[in-house]
Amino acid sequence: MTLPSQPILLTPGPLTTSERTRQAMLRDWGSWDGDFNQITARVRQQTLRIAHGEDSHECVPMQGSGTFSVEAAIGTLVPRNGHVLVPNNGAYCQRIAKICRALGRRHQTLDYPEDAQVKAADVDRALAADATITHVALVHCETGAGVLNPLHEIALVVAKHGRSLIIDAMSSFGAIDIDARQTPFDAVVAASGKCLEGVPGMGFVIIRRSVLEQCEGNSPSLALDLYDQWAYMNRTTQWRFTPPTHVVAALDQAIAQYVEEGGQEARGGRYASNCRALIEGMAALGFRTFLDPAIQAPIIVTFHAPDDPRYDFKTFYTEVKKRGYILYPGKLTQLETFRVGCIGHFGESGIPGAVAAIADALKVMGITQVSAKALA
Ligand SMILES: *Cc1c(COP(=O)(O)O)cnc(C)c1O
Repeated sequence: MTLPSQPILLTPGPLTTSERTRQAMLRDWGSWDGDFNQITARVRQQTLRIAHGEDSHECVPMQGSGTFSVEAAIGTLVPRNGHVLVPNNGAYCQRIAKICRALGRRHQTLDYPEDAQVKAADVDRALAADATITHVALVHCETGAGVLNPLHEIALVVAKHGRSLIIDAMSSFGAIDIDARQTPFDAVVAASGKCLEGVPGMGFVIIRRSVLEQCEGNSPSLALDLYDQWAYMNRTTQWRFTPPTHVVAALDQAIAQYVEEGGQEARGGRYASNCRALIEGMAALGFRTFLDPAIQAPIIVTFHAPDDPRYDFKTFYTEVKKRGYILYPGKLTQLETFRVGCIGHFGESGIPGAVAAIADALKVMGITQVSAKALA
């Protein structure tokens, strides 16, 4: 087995990037520089195009990890007297509820187990029952367990009730279709270091222009005010505060490669085939997925941990890492699981290589029964 020079990250971001994307960071830019600001403008335009929002929406970038942009979106769009409904089927939904709490925005959750999809009919009922709800904040792909929520159906329900929809599409944007011409939404939040295969360090929010124009003064935060960032950028072409220049340059290159690959269909197709190969390969070793395949997003897969007293995640992680692959711990509250990502820049041998590394790791750990209890 030949060892890759750097381990392949099978994680939901940061993820494995291409050489070309990393090369784009080998140059320093001044934040006032016209050439740099053209890169920013291109990134905004291209991400807007990916969501088919050129006619209706604006892309506002934001420094920081993806959560900064989620918090910026909630703070900027939801007015002080707003009321947010948060359908909740996992850790990232709970994070949105936490953001609402921190920002002092009234909210309520619509709770599901971690292995279930949000249902449009439940959102319909919740909105019909409470006219004070102004916004719905939906996670598209719940990266916690890997569930894909039915965005389009929910968006139609929210629009029918005349409420505002904010989508956390962090781990789906670019890989799973989100079309502003078909699916009504006021904001979709994503980041540089997920399915666009850039490096982490910035997010962006695609906001309906007519809504954004009304958002002045909403934000309880200075730095995370998307209205101000947008107004300043329109006026000066620059970011309001120091931009993550290397991250922006890398994202620009990553998007160029995304377009060359064939855009959303090609990227989503590649991840779907990674996901299939992963689930099949792992099943052959005896591993079972936590989710029903019908609701599994092709982004990250949660597996039940081996039911063997010799198993512990840390040793397993270390043994797999020695063989060139980085796994991710589970994010479930009740069960012992681990996660394997399907996203990032690695070739077709990536998933079979990871499965082989996992098989080897089990062998050296002396684990023979992968799913004894599960099958009992
Ligand atoms: C990655 C991710 C985020 C952002 O998390 P950070 O730790 O801030 O990068 C938010 N929502 C979802 C669904 C995600 O997958």
